[in-house]
Amino acid sequence: MPRKGSCLCGALTYEVDGDFEGVWMCHCSNCRKVSGGTGNTIVIVPRERFRWLSGEDHRVTYAVRPTYSITRCKTCGTPLPAEEDKDNVYLTAGTLDDPLDAGIKNHIFYGSRADWARDADGARYFVERSSGPEYAHGVDRKPT
Ligand SMILES: [Zn+2]
Ligand SMILES: [Zn+2]
Repeated sequence: MPRKGSCLCGALTYEVDGDFEGVWMCHCSNCRKVSGGTGNTIVIVPRERFRWLSGEDHRVTYAVRPTYSITRCKTCGTPLPAEEDKDNVYLTAGTLDDPLDAGIKNHIFYGSRADWARDADGARYFVERSSGPEYAHGVDRKPT
């Protein structure tokens, strides 16, 4: 079964075939800006395993720097899978709707990560909102 993905407004949908070794996370300052968070999370997908299903005309690409561009949905702004080279599609992992069955395998530009991109002492993990159940500390992190 192919895995499916989409943008936040649902205009753009895609699917990918096969399994993947893991996610690449880039901590560089460009990726932090465009994500507004700790960085970009990417699954590298050979082109023949990627298909747009809908909304391809909703894509808008911003060539921010000569070597850096970002493609977003023009309606909702979701960062989208980018077709920057002829061999691979750089799929933004957060747009996947199905489980990937793999974790983060490579952290790149980790030397320039934000100093806050780590757990503070006593960091708490909530299942949903901070008013709800919390995961216990420990390896299994089961909700209490
Ligand atoms: Zn959208
Ligand atoms: Zn980056």
